[in-house]
Amino acid sequence: MFASPDLKSRVAGCLLGGALGDAWGSAYEGRTGPISFHVPERSALSDDTELTLATCEAIIESDCVEPANVASHFVRWFRAGRIHGMGSSTYKAMRDLAAGTHWALAGARGEYAAGSGAAMRIAPLAFLLDPVNPDHRVIIRDVCRITHHSDEAYVGALAVLLAIRSVVAGSWSPQTTFLALARDNLPDSAVRDRIGQLMQAQLPASDVASRFGASGHVVDTVPLALYCAQSIASNNLADVLAMTITCGGDTDTIASIAGQLAGTVVGVAGVPSDLLAAIHSGDNVVAAAHQFADFVCNRSRQP
Ligand SMILES: [Mg+2]
Repeated sequence: MFASPDLKSRVAGCLLGGALGDAWGSAYEGRTGPISFHVPERSALSDDTELTLATCEAIIESDCVEPANVASHFVRWFRAGRIHGMGSSTYKAMRDLAAGTHWALAGARGEYAAGSGAAMRIAPLAFLLDPVNPDHRVIIRDVCRITHHSDEAYVGALAVLLAIRSVVAGSWSPQTTFLALARDNLPDSAVRDRIGQLMQAQLPASDVASRFGASGHVVDTVPLALYCAQSIASNNLADVLAMTITCGGDTDTIASIAGQLAGTVVGVAGVPSDLLAAIHSGDNVVAAAHQFADFVCNRSRQP
């Protein structure tokens, strides 16, 4: 079993575990599982990590989570060509924001807005906001709405946030799963129903994926990521990511979220630096992760 990492290590581990999952998963995105996984020779980050890092940057600049500033950082990165592989809802929102639409009105609506584009970038908020607090819950919802005006997309993001917080709070364990911890605190929704179904499953991840789905729809993506991430209880991070990617489908987002959860458990020492160094990126993800981890720790020391 791993030594318990401190908060700074967990924050950096979350962001870097997610980056590794995104980069490895991007090489396999859209293929039907089960996939035979090998570490890709060349891998690159996509919107999952890029929008997460843009969120971190905005939070540090505002010294709080301010949806308007998160949106303005998104549009800055979008205009600079720093966001890759966007889904349709995220792309629509970025285009509208760039055209001057107010952040509260840019997000996609309707059934196609229930993608995983809010869940994939919500992780930084988990270290600063408590969804039990009604004011914090509104901020979390507003940050989701920048790209996804959808209750299911919001609940999916909330599930990721709750799962990360459960590790920091010490309530996650090999026996008390991400699925159980998230389900207990989620509103009635299709995401919550799927989490309940997966809690009963005792199957290899790729079987769960072929039975329930591994698409970019948030009802598929988030519960499957939580299911896969639970295997960090008895595997290292690279094995968790490899197993997650065998599921196929929206591999970059599913592996990115699973990597964030597993990375929070093992901390930064559990994310191999040689594997991170092999990722091709214009962004210095390691420096950005440590900068945000320092910010969170300094905030947590404030009275
Ligand atoms: Mg992506």
